[in-house]
Amino acid sequence: MYVQNDVLWNKKPWVAGPSLQNELRCDVCVIGLGASGLTALTYLSEHGMNAIGVDAGMVGAGAAGSNGGFILAGIAAFHHDAVDVLGHARATRLYKRTLDEIQRLASEEPSFEKRGSLRIAKDDDEYLDCLRQRATMQADGLSVELYEGTEGRGLLVPTDGVFQPLERVRRMAMALRGSGVSLYERSAVTHIEPQLVVANGNRIVCRHTIVAVDGKLEYILPQLTGILKTTRLQMLATAPDCTLHYPHPVYYNYGYDYWQQRQDGSIAIGGARDKYEATEWGNATYPTLDVQSAIEFRLRETVGCTAPILHRWGASVAYRLDDVRPFVGQVLPSVWACGGYSGTGNLVGTLCARDIATALITGTQHSITGWHD
Ligand SMILES: Cc1cc2nc3c(=O)[nH]c(=O)nc-3n(C[C@H](O)[C@H](O)[C@H](O)COP(=O)(O)OP(=O)(O)OC[C@H]3O[C@@H](n4cnc5c(N)ncnc54)[C@H](O)[C@@H]3O)c2cc1C
Repeated sequence: MYVQNDVLWNKKPWVAGPSLQNELRCDVCVIGLGASGLTALTYLSEHGMNAIGVDAGMVGAGAAGSNGGFILAGIAAFHHDAVDVLGHARATRLYKRTLDEIQRLASEEPSFEKRGSLRIAKDDDEYLDCLRQRATMQADGLSVELYEGTEGRGLLVPTDGVFQPLERVRRMAMALRGSGVSLYERSAVTHIEPQLVVANGNRIVCRHTIVAVDGKLEYILPQLTGILKTTRLQMLATAPDCTLHYPHPVYYNYGYDYWQQRQDGSIAIGGARDKYEATEWGNATYPTLDVQSAIEFRLRETVGCTAPILHRWGASVAYRLDDVRPFVGQVLPSVWACGGYSGTGNLVGTLCARDIATALITGTQHSITGWHD
């Protein structure tokens, strides 16, 4: 059983750009018009490269336009878990890069609100894990505070925030269109080989290709099968509930459940993937009755919201299977890809895509730094 996809953020109309109708030549073809691909395009065009963008759907058609709007520093793993795998120096360097990315976002994106974020423990064991996280973050000089409030007890990370994800990608796309960069929507890529992309049945001959697709990346580049795996994440959103007051976005149950109260009082909440992991793998994006019911239970029982539900949706992301870090690198000669943000790609995705663009601009593709060393 499934229900219709109706994304909370998708309220304003969008005038789609053209679909690809003939053969093109360019320096760089960027596949995916989410925040990552649009960041790469922005950076490439600012540095004088002839780059074009293509997307199977519209701008922000994927997770970049339909996510929870959390801006959380760090990679998907909590900092102490990242340190266990990467060591203090590498994990802290990545964390600090995402802090810089928050600063950049705050200066560029009007919808960004620096509200901090909470990690709330579901039980005593998780609270002990919160204490371990706090100790590691403090040892590495990262901002974190103990928190106790109506949400429960856990941690407050004061540097985090929220934003309106679809507005952001649409703003980026409008700016690119304004500066003459061609964005082709409704142009699915069906074939990639070195220096050639086929989209909507037309050839794009390019010196380089950047595949900036998180969910479904291994479907476009089967070479990444076994390294990344696509899964669906689901959310719902309510009408305003003025009886509630959640100033901070909340991560609960190790981040499997998450919600934020928006400025109009409505709640946007997602999660339940821990209970339905097996059925969520794959490239389907429609919301399902069982996951939606589990999210609704959390909404009513834990969040305490009684307002009616107005939106239900799902979208694809990719999880990295063999590393706590995302995938950033070369897949075929002249073909670069980034993805596998494991559920939190708002900051890391733009960082990875900008790293690839920078490497192409500076001719230092051999040393895309920070992600694998
Ligand atoms: C419900 C949900 C909640 C989330 N909440 C958060 C959160 O609160 N904070 C956070 O940091 N992260 C969150 N994420 C993850 C985050 O949204 C993603 O990691 C991030 O948006 C990825 O952006 P992207 O631009 O790299 O890729 P995507 O947004 O996946 O964009 C890829 C684009 O590629 C296009 N595409 C796919 N296949 C093809 C093809 N064959 N040809 C051409 N184009 C193609 C798609 O149409 C899409 O527009 C959430 C994800 C979901 C689904």
